[in-house]
Amino acid sequence: MTKLRRKKLLGVRMLQTRLSRFQIFVVLLALLSTSCSLGARAPQMTATLIVAGSHIDISVDEGKNNVPQADLIAWIQAAAESVAGYYGRFPVPHLTLHIMPFSGHGVRRGMTFGMRGGFIKIGLGSETTKAELMNDWMLTHEMIHLAFPSVADEHHWIEEGISTYVEPIARIRASHMKEEQMWADLIRDMPKGQPQAGDQGLDHTHTWGRTYWGGALFCFDADVEIRRQTQNKKGLQDALRGILDAGGNITQDWELTKALKIGDQATGTTVLTNLYNQVKDKPVSVDLQEKWKQLGIEWDGSAVHLRDDAPEAAIRRAITEAGSPASPAADVSIQSAGNAIAVMAGRKSS
Ligand SMILES: [Zn+2]
Repeated sequence: MTKLRRKKLLGVRMLQTRLSRFQIFVVLLALLSTSCSLGARAPQMTATLIVAGSHIDISVDEGKNNVPQADLIAWIQAAAESVAGYYGRFPVPHLTLHIMPFSGHGVRRGMTFGMRGGFIKIGLGSETTKAELMNDWMLTHEMIHLAFPSVADEHHWIEEGISTYVEPIARIRASHMKEEQMWADLIRDMPKGQPQAGDQGLDHTHTWGRTYWGGALFCFDADVEIRRQTQNKKGLQDALRGILDAGGNITQDWELTKALKIGDQATGTTVLTNLYNQVKDKPVSVDLQEKWKQLGIEWDGSAVHLRDDAPEAAIRRAITEAGSPASPAADVSIQSAGNAIAVMAGRKSS
């Protein structure tokens, strides 16, 4: 797990398909196009997806690839729809998505960059099944990186933390994941984000655990605290939408303190700024056992049980509940290549 400047990587979880309230128009462009100039090798396929008004230009490198095109498009659409649902829109107007086939199964090596208005590279196994694609979490994780400004390297934990924490929530809200699964995963994984011996705070401890799960722990702690202070009317989602609405997407370089301040303004609190000041240069543990208890999340060793009689059960439910009901699948239309060319007239696939 590394970060180059404006690059976010990641690693592990799941997805499914069903459609939400967003107007998503799927436009398939020219198969076997050779006009793409993304890389040294001609793409095997190019397509453009229009999600909530944003264009996602897809190219798949040449190479062995037995994944049906419809499955591939459904995978990308589900991820984009989940992210657009959480943020109220897709984070950037134009994403370039470059898919690199490899031999085998699964989705690997996702990387997100601020260049070209937003650029994601991701590996796709040539034998990946539809079920595996429906359980993929990585593409959603990468797309969430588009929705936060680039900050200095020492704050990389906030970039990974947001993607790690928001990804399952976005997928649950879009009906691509079950809430019980997320809480079971968080009970298992959140402890990896706690400070270990020698920790010097999130800005100065660049281990894998502190970067991904320490960042996620910060987001979880902030989400619960914002909801406590606002009688559950606002949450981290409002803060993150506020940052994106202020122009803070991956193409922008911001000071972290600016992003947190704008996020706080969106919730009418100072939770993000205060929490950051507490954890940036000191090891601060979160009492997770107490949090699970308050939220009504119990683990019996094999399954998670969600209790609605817990003191903060309403906060737990609000974290994963969609703000408005999902709209029917008819919101999505798939157009043929011939129609797509007309729709896309005037711009080149790239
Ligand atoms: Zn990442």
